[in-house]
Amino acid sequence: MIDYSFATERLKNRLDPKGQGNPPASFQASQIGRPCSRYLYFTRVPEAWALRKPFGAAAQYEMNRGSERESLILEKAVDLLAPDFQDWIFQRLGPYGRMGDPRLQCYDQALDIRGRIDALCTHKSTGKTVAVEVKTMSVHTWERINRAEDFRDAADHYLNGYYGQLQAYLYNFGLEDGLFILEAKERASNGDLPLKFLPVVLDFEYFQAVIDRIKLAQFALRAGKPPDPIAYTEKGCGRCPYLTVCGNSPSTNGTAAMYDADLLEKLNRREELKADSSEYEKLDSEIKERLKGVGKAVIGNFYVTGEKRTRQMKATEARTQEFWQTKIENMAAKENERQFD
Ligand code: SF4
Repeated sequence: MIDYSFATERLKNRLDPKGQGNPPASFQASQIGRPCSRYLYFTRVPEAWALRKPFGAAAQYEMNRGSERESLILEKAVDLLAPDFQDWIFQRLGPYGRMGDPRLQCYDQALDIRGRIDALCTHKSTGKTVAVEVKTMSVHTWERINRAEDFRDAADHYLNGYYGQLQAYLYNFGLEDGLFILEAKERASNGDLPLKFLPVVLDFEYFQAVIDRIKLAQFALRAGKPPDPIAYTEKGCGRCPYLTVCGNSPSTNGTAAMYDADLLEKLNRREELKADSSEYEKLDSEIKERLKGVGKAVIGNFYVTGEKRTRQMKATEARTQEFWQTKIENMAAKENERQFD
C-alpha cells in the first residue's frame, strides 16, 4: 500500500512555513480598520512581525479555502447582478489562486496603504461605479451582520477591518458606493439563503479617524517607539496576533508603556533582592522617587500605579501632609501564580 502521508505533510509545510518572512512594506487595506495604531505599527516592524502569533496550518487552509470560494461567489454575483450592472472587472480563480486585474490594485501613496478590490462594476441607470468586496464567514457571524455598519461596530477587530478595507477602496478610487457580498459557510438557522448583499457608502467621518490612526502609526515608525495600547477587550486585544509583543492585558488595560531601560534594570534588581536587605531599601526608595507623579505605567513586566495621598498629622501638630504612594506589581510573577492556583 502506498503511504500518502507525505502529501498532508507537504501541505502543512506550505501552509505553515518555518520562518516568518518579512513584514509587508505598506499598511494592508484589510487591516487599517482595526481600531489600534499600535497594531498597525507592529505590522511593519520586523521584530514584532517575527514574534506575532502565527495562524497555523489549519487556520491558513481555512482562509485559503474562503478566498477560493469568494472567487466563485463573485462569478455567481456577476451573473445575478448583470441586468443592472455592466463593465465588470473582477478577480477570477486561476490555476495558481486568484488572478487580479491591475485595474483592481489599490495603492494610496500618502497613507501607504495597499490592497486589491474584488470587483468593480457600473450601475446602468445611475452610471455610478461600485466597489465590491466578497467575504465568507461562519453562519454565527453572518447572522449578526445585517448592515455594512455592523462590521464597523463589531467587537471583533478583524470584522472592523472588513469595513475599513472597503472604505479604503472607496476613498482611494474616489467612489461613493460599495457593496459587500457575504456568504455563510454553513446553512442559516432560519432557512434563509446564505447570501447577503449589503450596500455601503463612503463614510468620510469614519475614514478621517482611520487616517489619524495611520498617521500616528507612521509617526511612531519614524520615532521607533510604538503608540500606546488601547483599552483591553477579550474580542479585540485577546485575539490580537501581537498580544504577547504588546503586553496589554486585562489588568493593565491599555496603560501606556514607559521605555526606561535604566529604571527597568533597577526594577529587575529590586525584584531579585530580599525585601529586608539594605540594597533593596536603597533601590526601592530611588525607584519610588523616580516614579513620583506617575499614575499608571507598564515598564517591562512591572505594572506601576501611584496616587497622591494625604495623612492627618497628630492633633498637636494639626496639619495634613501630602505624599505620593507607588505600588509596583510584577505581572510575570502574578501570571505564574494564577497558572498554578
Ligand atoms: S493587543 Fe490590543 S493594544 Fe496591543 S496591539 Fe493588539 S489591539 Fe493593540
